[in-house]
Amino acid sequence: MKRRDGQNPEITRHWRPATQAVRGGTVRTEWGETSEALILSSGYTYDDAETVAARFAGEAEGMTYSRLQNPTVEMLEHRIALMEGAEACRAQATGMAAMTAALLCQLDTGNHVVAARAAFGSCRWLTDSLLPRWGITTTTIDSRDNAAWEAAIQPNTKVFFFETPANPTMDIVDMGFVCGLAKAHGITTVVDNAFATSVLQRPLDFGADVVAYSATKMMDGQGRVLAGAVAGSAEFINEKLLPFQRNTGPNLSPFNAWVVLKGLETLDLRAMRQSENSMKVGKFLEGRVPVMLHPGLPSHPQHNLAAAQMKACGPIFSFVLDGGRRQAMDLLNALELVDISNNIGDSRSLATHPASTTHHSVGPEARDIMGVGEGMIRINIGLEDPLDVIDDLDRALTKVGL
Ligand SMILES: *Cc1c(COP(=O)(O)O)cnc(C)c1O
Repeated sequence: MKRRDGQNPEITRHWRPATQAVRGGTVRTEWGETSEALILSSGYTYDDAETVAARFAGEAEGMTYSRLQNPTVEMLEHRIALMEGAEACRAQATGMAAMTAALLCQLDTGNHVVAARAAFGSCRWLTDSLLPRWGITTTTIDSRDNAAWEAAIQPNTKVFFFETPANPTMDIVDMGFVCGLAKAHGITTVVDNAFATSVLQRPLDFGADVVAYSATKMMDGQGRVLAGAVAGSAEFINEKLLPFQRNTGPNLSPFNAWVVLKGLETLDLRAMRQSENSMKVGKFLEGRVPVMLHPGLPSHPQHNLAAAQMKACGPIFSFVLDGGRRQAMDLLNALELVDISNNIGDSRSLATHPASTTHHSVGPEARDIMGVGEGMIRINIGLEDPLDVIDDLDRALTKVGL
């Protein structure tokens, strides 16, 4: 039936990534709408009592309640799974709901987690504060160091958890090595792929087991909604994640799913253009600021690894000023075009001071260890003309004496 093309594996498996991003998961209603239908409904009705009984018994397909399934949300889940090369995906209310569900659904008291120390602040809170409260121990390591992953493994290690590139230090994890190591020890690898998305890097292709997303970032890409997703094998999603999610309820609203579906249609275009713009701005800044942390530039110590794993560098990078918090804040205050904002992945250029915002909650000691200094600024390069962004940074840098 033509209106189910986007969810027919016989058809979708032939589609290349750009096609999946536009058409994957689409199911049309009897009206034949071109744009995905936004089904804002919490519940469903049935022609007879036997139909609903069969659905609850798992003997018939169909919707029963939007905490369990929703047609619009399901379209997004299919699309993300196709783009990721995953067997299955479940959308989540936010990126943090995705990280929490991906970890808690598979961990038990007595398990051990090895996590990258350079990570989004709330991800650090999960590993440092939440998991230990339930008797799940964690070790945080320098994720750039392959030997550190190996050395941190304990007999009860159940999960490896990391971001690459990491927020905001731009550390790169050697995914082939780390995922291979995990497999050899029966450890599940969970990769937070918010910075790159499937367009720039597909962790499952490097042997990762689970990809978890903040879809709030590049996938929406226009600063509108909070959203998240977890993708992996059908076994992991259906047997581990689904019971956890259906009974705890971190579900994505159909409206937000619809917005992200629209975002995915242009994800490839935006990710590639923003990467290009980020290279132009990065080249301008190099030499002008004391330290650049830009995976697309040969000066990044892991540039070759980033280039081998990523199709392009992505829109985000960081740099460090010598004058500490005062100079970093003065620079932000001097910007006229680039907004002061702690969001990323947006089509607008945004800059933030991680030590006082995204990484405020991890505390000065942990910031020191992960390399988030007082002079660091993280920037997301948007879709504006990069020459205007360069003009703005040039003016602001001059104003702070650089
Ligand atoms: C933003 C972000 C998150 C959290 O996502 P939300 O959608 O804000 O909950 C997790 N990990 C990384 C790397 C992020 O950038």
